[in-house]
Amino acid sequence: MKRVWIETYGCQMNVADTELILGVLAGEGYTQADQPEGADVLLVNTCAVRDNAEQRVIGRMGELQRHKRPGTVLGVVGCMAQRLGPILLERVPKVDLVVGPDGYRNLPELLGHAAGGMRTADVEYRSWEHYEDFPQVRAAGPTAFVTVQRGCDYRCTFCIVPTTRGPERSRRLADVVAEVRALAEGGTSEVTLLGQTVNSYHDGTDDFAALLRAMGTVDGIRRIRFTSPYPTDFTPSVIEAMATTPAVCDHVHLPVQSGSNSVLRRMRRRYTRERYLDVVDEIRSAMPAITFSTDIIVGFPGETEDEFADTLSIVGAAGFDDAYTFKYSVREGTPAVKIRDHVPDDVATERLDRLIDVVRAQARRRNAAHVGEVYEVLVERPARRGDMMLARTRRNHMVLVDLPTSSIGEYHKVQLTGTTGSTFTGALHHARLAVL
Ligand code: SF4
Repeated sequence: MKRVWIETYGCQMNVADTELILGVLAGEGYTQADQPEGADVLLVNTCAVRDNAEQRVIGRMGELQRHKRPGTVLGVVGCMAQRLGPILLERVPKVDLVVGPDGYRNLPELLGHAAGGMRTADVEYRSWEHYEDFPQVRAAGPTAFVTVQRGCDYRCTFCIVPTTRGPERSRRLADVVAEVRALAEGGTSEVTLLGQTVNSYHDGTDDFAALLRAMGTVDGIRRIRFTSPYPTDFTPSVIEAMATTPAVCDHVHLPVQSGSNSVLRRMRRRYTRERYLDVVDEIRSAMPAITFSTDIIVGFPGETEDEFADTLSIVGAAGFDDAYTFKYSVREGTPAVKIRDHVPDDVATERLDRLIDVVRAQARRRNAAHVGEVYEVLVERPARRGDMMLARTRRNHMVLVDLPTSSIGEYHKVQLTGTTGSTFTGALHHARLAVL
């Protein structure tokens, strides 16, 4: 029996791809190792979105190569593998194998070659690839990621994803339903549908609205989340499906990237600030309890102080509950490389600090207003510290609750008793209060 150690960096799509890779390899008799020492295969599933993510991986490869012994294969998979391909073989001499996101089907064969001393890079795009025939190996738990779409057809100028993951393609609705039904039969009650622009999902017959409705009919699925949607793909029918499918949660992660129309144009985002805010309003009108989180990039080439002020002000205008904030990271191979007007790093850092202050202050204010309210939570996992459990509301608030490990997967009503600003504490609640 061969053992594979795999580390995952980056987004939820990579987490789902790691489960897929384990599924592909399980079919060939591999089991998952719980430490790199002694594993026959060492894989790093990588992200290419920011330069520092890639630097971390290079550093980690250096550490992992210490665990190599004769016959051990060290491989890089995922977006960085796709972006750099054979260059990675040159740059890190101990790496035996480089495989992009469309090549996982070939992993068993490639691993065999690599064990025999043949170093290979497989970075071919296979736009037909859905991996429909490989069951994923998932950690048991009440929640699961389900990839419904791979690749991206949009061309945001800062983004390497269209290069690393190829063109957009959607799985057939019936296949997604079958997978989710099997998950529900195994005890999963919450699924997160994954795609780069997940709400542009279309399998040739059915769109994202139909997919949401179909998910809502699966017995045992009590919560549906999705990430990441694209603002202008929230058609009226998608919003209606969200509002009328009770399992769809009251939270949307809706990347805005910038609040400035001129920056959005340079990023080649397909909306204006005004259109983005309209979409937020349309969703909020249909689902008044909804919360929004977002992604924001500061220091995009040419960003002026006035343009940055528009980004600061959209945090309040949209009423974000949370935001993932980043300094622009130049990516070779993206159109933005050609925009020469770079923002000095110290200016970008100072703007990022100001943005974080605004986001945190707003999150604290909004969260403090929820203390005392009663929510239904799904208990997900033990908290990192202490012996509390981490549970989540439909609005995506994380709540620390004093419950035993055996409560994982259960739904409870909790009253929020306090907040650190981002996370809540909660106590089990039995009285009859409105549950949110
Ligand atoms: S929509 Fe834009 S940011 Fe998102 S994956 Fe596609 S190109 Fe990248």
